[in-house]
Amino acid sequence: LVRYYLKNIDRNSRLNAFLEVFTDEALEAAKIIDQKLSEGKAGKLAGMIVGLKDNICYKNHKVSASSKILEGFESLYSATVVERLLAEDAIIIGRLNCDEFAMGSSNENSAFGNVLHPIDNTRVPGGSSGGSAVAVAADLCTAALGTDTGGSIRQPASFCGVVGLKPTYGLVSRWGCIAYASSFDQIGPITKNIEDAALMLEVIAGPDEYDATLASISSKYYSRSIATDVSSKKIAVIRDCIENPALDSEIKQHITDIIGKLQTEGNEVTIVDFPYLDYLVPAYYVLTTAEASSNLSRYDGMRYGYRSKNAVDLETTYIKSRSEGFGKEVKRRIMLGTFVLSAGYYDAYYAKAQKVRRILRDKTLDILNKFDFILLPSTPKTAFKFGENNDPISMYLEDIFTVQANLTGIPAISIPSGQHSNGLPFGIQIMSKPFAESDLFSFSSYLINK
Ligand code: GLN
Repeated sequence: LVRYYLKNIDRNSRLNAFLEVFTDEALEAAKIIDQKLSEGKAGKLAGMIVGLKDNICYKNHKVSASSKILEGFESLYSATVVERLLAEDAIIIGRLNCDEFAMGSSNENSAFGNVLHPIDNTRVPGGSSGGSAVAVAADLCTAALGTDTGGSIRQPASFCGVVGLKPTYGLVSRWGCIAYASSFDQIGPITKNIEDAALMLEVIAGPDEYDATLASISSKYYSRSIATDVSSKKIAVIRDCIENPALDSEIKQHITDIIGKLQTEGNEVTIVDFPYLDYLVPAYYVLTTAEASSNLSRYDGMRYGYRSKNAVDLETTYIKSRSEGFGKEVKRRIMLGTFVLSAGYYDAYYAKAQKVRRILRDKTLDILNKFDFILLPSTPKTAFKFGENNDPISMYLEDIFTVQANLTGIPAISIPSGQHSNGLPFGIQIMSKPFAESDLFSFSSYLINK
């Protein structure tokens, strides 16, 4: 299996999904796991060959967050999720390309070049976990881990026709994940099917003494509790999502058809009002850039990776290392975040956005108290062309349907659902109550065949 994937990775190197392939190590691990299998002692992920988004630490391996600023840096410890995968005998096959520090929706922000969409190489794979989605879609590994701060697992999964789950905030340890916006970031699986997503989640989820934001909910047997027979569910569809002018008409039609089928099969589907859509993206970008400006202050040219050769003293080391080491989008966000946190503007932007976040959470939970699920598009359109979205605001608006789950902490999944007349796949998204991932998997596996 490892050899098969290594060959596929080699054949598809133009896609630029991998930043590094752990060839010898993966083959070596395979030998050990074959031995365990023959002795009947293998863990539950034996045979699962996993790619890691390059913002997840793996001890004694490079990690770059696709940024020049981490040049030469190696992880001193493994992320909790990596330790848990390895303990169940998964094989880590390599590091996957992404947008720099997970900031982006197209993978055009990587310091190591674009990742190409596997079906149409002139198009983006989505981002920021673009390498992860492409690696799974092009069969370069069994599954991948991504991170989702505002849609970075679900949006590329939707663009590439694979499954992507953003778990409830506080379900999966962020220890060893390079922070972008700590109160939003979650690690989650990108897989070919629901079963693999459930299996991976059950391995990586659950309390960890290194992440104090985790809920004390022990990991469930998600993979064993996928119900095949799901009926009489109450599903909310947000009017402003489905009637959104940015939504592609074929995706809209597809969702309308799904609603019809759900109703025919005895589910209750209700169009609900949630007139706050215009607040989602602004609140998200105020809060995440604020957190990013703080998180990224540690990359100072002294402690990690890249140090400018043009520096002559402490101050020029900071300034030149950061100026040369960070890419354009990351700099934009650090400046924006520093601005919204600055004295005199803090209340007008950061404090206000926090209040908006609270309202969005309350209103979203109000819906989920009355309904089992919220059904919505994953993305407004299918994968766009490179360079097509070169205005930052239009790029930020790509996240309109995904940021709600991160702002409110609830779990959300994108499952492959339709094929557009342009030949590209697209997903649909389901959100549920906090920690209701089991229900999400069951409903997804029912819906995936609609
Ligand atoms: N596209 C969003 C952003 O650029 C989401 C990123 C993410 O989820 N990491 O911030």
